Amino acid sequence: MTVVGIDDTDSRERGMCTTYVATEIADQLRRNGSPVVSRLLLVRLNPAIKYKTRGNAALAIHTDCDPDRAFAVARKRLEALAKTEDERTNPGLVVADHDPEERDVPDDVREFARAAVRDKLRIADATDVLERHGYRSWHAGDGRGRIGALAAIGSWAALEEWTYEYISYRDSDRWGTPRDVDRESVVVAADWGYPDVWDTVDRGEGETVCVPHTPGPILHGIRGDDPAATRSVAEQIESEPVTASQLFVTNQGTDVHLQKGTLGAVENGRAYRLEGRVATEPETRRGGHVFVDLEAPAPAANEVRNEPDRLTCAAFEPTKRFRDRVRALRIGDRITACGEVSDGTLKLEKFAVRDLVRTEPVTPTCPDCSRTMESAGRNQGYRCRTCETSRDGKVERSLDRGLEIGWYEVPPCARRHIAKPLIRGGFDAPTHPER
Ligand code: ATP
Repeated sequence: MTVVGIDDTDSRERGMCTTYVATEIADQLRRNGSPVVSRLLLVRLNPAIKYKTRGNAALAIHTDCDPDRAFAVARKRLEALAKTEDERTNPGLVVADHDPEERDVPDDVREFARAAVRDKLRIADATDVLERHGYRSWHAGDGRGRIGALAAIGSWAALEEWTYEYISYRDSDRWGTPRDVDRESVVVAADWGYPDVWDTVDRGEGETVCVPHTPGPILHGIRGDDPAATRSVAEQIESEPVTASQLFVTNQGTDVHLQKGTLGAVENGRAYRLEGRVATEPETRRGGHVFVDLEAPAPAANEVRNEPDRLTCAAFEPTKRFRDRVRALRIGDRITACGEVSDGTLKLEKFAVRDLVRTEPVTPTCPDCSRTMESAGRNQGYRCRTCETSRDGKVERSLDRGLEIGWYEVPPCARRHIAKPLIRGGFDAPTHPER
């Protein structure tokens, strides 16, 4: 077996897409000499990496092609297609002549793949591993793409959960022009495929999220848990001609970027799952972004803590109706918050309500005349002057909460590629999926 890993071919302004380069390489491998291409992997790496063009994707091709030939074909396609005119495009190619399965992938390659999803790596980290195992490699520019390419080699063995994306490509003459896709057919196909196929449209925003707006070659990408259903949805969409299509196995929609953390010990550039108690009233600031502070859950009886650990969480404007969920939180609610920490703020992707504050203390009303009582003096409770009724203190009034116990998420239009949609299931509490 041979594993071909590639990364960093596209440019925000000049287009291209590494999935397309992988599709072209796979086609060429199949064409000349008819080796088997058993799988194309689309791996999303740490979404917090600043070098990314958009979604921090790296690609791997699993084939029984001779490694020297695979290397030559891949290098030629990369040299022809990578947008190296853009100095931020630094393509990398790594070819391993072993099976992609766990038993054949060296431990440090597997570890490298795991780290690439959750941490930040250096180019030297990649070259050390490459040299240790004698992998064939090629690069242009500073060769940063070798990080993603090597991670792609180890990912099949390193990661456990996989979904699918069926990508259809445009005629190259049309790249950079508006896409001609029939909206209605997308909505009907999305309904047909749901819930095996998800994030095809955002019904709330009326957006066809499967159709990108970038200058690249993708016409649409259909995501889901069932490969046959993703393909079928793609085939039901009416559009301009599709010149090629390819099924990718991917770690999209899996939340594999999230690591368990504690509020006081987070680092920028990583994504976490954190337990906390709402410490401030949610606040909507300029631009429509909503902020709320979390503090660490109450300390254990024997734990000494001066200041509770706090972290600001944000639901930015593009997360649309999710912000209403965040605005509905109240001081004292207990939640699990998920998202990436950047500049000391957690960018919320989803949260689980664990416990809701259900009452609030209010001034009592008179049981006879129903009017609000008045203070009877400092620490002397409340009384009704007219009826002479009294109460020792405030009373608890039940609150009408717009939230329930369970998970809430950003809508499909704001979903990060790697984030797991609630509809996929497997969560530890009831879910309130967006579609
Ligand atoms: P493309 O479609 O070209 O792959 P992209 O949005 O996926 O676009 P890239 O252009 O690939 O982003 O840029 C990401 C760069 O960051 C690549 O060079 C990749 O090797 C590198 N990279 C990925 N993950 C990490 C990481 N965890 N630490 C450091 N560098 C990383």
